[in-house]
Amino acid sequence: MTISSLETLQQVFGYDSFRGDQQAIIDHVVQGGDALVLMPTGGGKSLCYQIPALVRPGTGVVISPLIALMQDQVDALLELGVRAAFLNSSQDWRTSRDVEQAFLAGQLDLLYVAPERLLTERCLEMLSAGRISLFAIDEAHCVSQWGHDFRPEYLGLSILHERWPQIPRLALTATATTVTRREIAERLALDGAPHFVASFDRPNIRYRIIEKNEVRRQLLAFIQAEHQGDCGIVYCLSRARVEETAEFLCENGIAALPYHAGLSPAVRAANQARFLREDGMVMVATIAFGMGVNKPDVRFVAHIDLPKSVEGYYQETGRAGRDGLPATAWLAYGLQDVVQQRRMINESAGDDAFRRRLGAQLDAMLGLCETVSCRRQRLLAYFQQDTGPCGNCDTCLEPPQAWDGTVAAQKILSAVYRLWRERGQRFGAGHLIDILRGKPTDRIKQYEHETMTVFGIGADLSEQAWRGVLRQLLAQSLLAVDQEGYGTLALTETSRAVLKGEQTLMFRREPEKKTRNSRPAST
Ligand code: ADP
Ligand code: ZN
Repeated sequence: MTISSLETLQQVFGYDSFRGDQQAIIDHVVQGGDALVLMPTGGGKSLCYQIPALVRPGTGVVISPLIALMQDQVDALLELGVRAAFLNSSQDWRTSRDVEQAFLAGQLDLLYVAPERLLTERCLEMLSAGRISLFAIDEAHCVSQWGHDFRPEYLGLSILHERWPQIPRLALTATATTVTRREIAERLALDGAPHFVASFDRPNIRYRIIEKNEVRRQLLAFIQAEHQGDCGIVYCLSRARVEETAEFLCENGIAALPYHAGLSPAVRAANQARFLREDGMVMVATIAFGMGVNKPDVRFVAHIDLPKSVEGYYQETGRAGRDGLPATAWLAYGLQDVVQQRRMINESAGDDAFRRRLGAQLDAMLGLCETVSCRRQRLLAYFQQDTGPCGNCDTCLEPPQAWDGTVAAQKILSAVYRLWRERGQRFGAGHLIDILRGKPTDRIKQYEHETMTVFGIGADLSEQAWRGVLRQLLAQSLLAVDQEGYGTLALTETSRAVLKGEQTLMFRREPEKKTRNSRPAST
């Protein structure tokens, strides 16, 4: 008598019932169908292939790029009494041989294999000689060349369909834009396979995006006020920033560890292990950290640099609150982020189409940062999912005010225009603000900018307010980072309409900086 999926769920995994689409997906695969499964991180993708692998005869072959985590996954399954093993480059040949023999003897329910290993002739031959119940392709978005996790080995996985047309294949990912979805289906030859798209909403995560001024101090204040003693992840763009931020947090009494690709594998593994096992650790990391890390009680994910895309941001923040309890996604973002990222795109290798794609991804991210409506609505809309205002994000909880920034924008655009027209000069944000606010700095005097008609015409707004205006102009591409310059600013095609008064601009009003009473050790 065969055991049913529900019995397997209850007896092997100890859960009462299926969640969301799990049942439908499992039934479909058990009957031999292919499928594409899109579920947010923590949605419960693993059971979608683990249960069919147990119910169907043969071994379920799981392709996963995360060598570092295979051991943990297999250990967890062994503990449940599931016969699982993995094959990857971290093993000695003796262990691999034992695993191969167990597979050939039909003694494995699940076999995890890294893609580069699977594609070797030796491995393909071994698989042909055994009995396979299904293929599960985890982190399937790695096949997308445009995505943030592209892995060339994934392109070779179309071979599974060619060699084993009868065996069901299940592609799983937490990345769900229509473009990525189409790419996965195409590259993995999953045409005709149904797409199971779960709701991407993570209602327990509270989204908050704040204006960056002294980011480490802001981060510390956030942790101290809301997440003292909690486990969290802080994402930074560069290795240097990871190091200095981890150090800063430690000096201020927060148990923080660094993680980036420049650390030795031993240090990385040790830090990851501490993060997973100890309570209340904060991992300060580049995006090299986190894929597949399953820690249910991460209470916050903070970004101190602007992520490059909404997809990446959503995946990273999705690592918070997997246990369903309240968690926070906190992002600090400012003018410098926009300047820096526009510059990086200008300077990136690759053709125009590639740069346009990066630019569009950044624009979507900036749209999320600058929105005056619900963040969650905006996020889910990016994944083609409709929802009402959530009541659990910063804009829902404290609706930002909008103000008419048309005149301010005209002032700044005309300063840029005049500098270029009258003097052939381009400057960065700081100097432009000094001109507008009429600040007689050495640099102003050196260039005789106090003689310009625009000098001092913006004294009515604070420096912070001007930074907000500049940031929003850059976010909307009404100003551009000069192609050749070093963060200097130039007008764009669309600036003209604003200068001519043909376009009204509404901006977010930034709350003024609060005074601080406690000072941390250093910045
Ligand atoms: P994903 O791979 O989609 O990020 P996982 O498969 O790791 O998510 O599942 C996330 C968590 O939810 C795990 O701890 C898992 O055991 C749990 N889980 C999954 N399905 C169920 C279910 N039907 N009932 C209870 N818990 C579940
Ligand atoms: Zn909201």
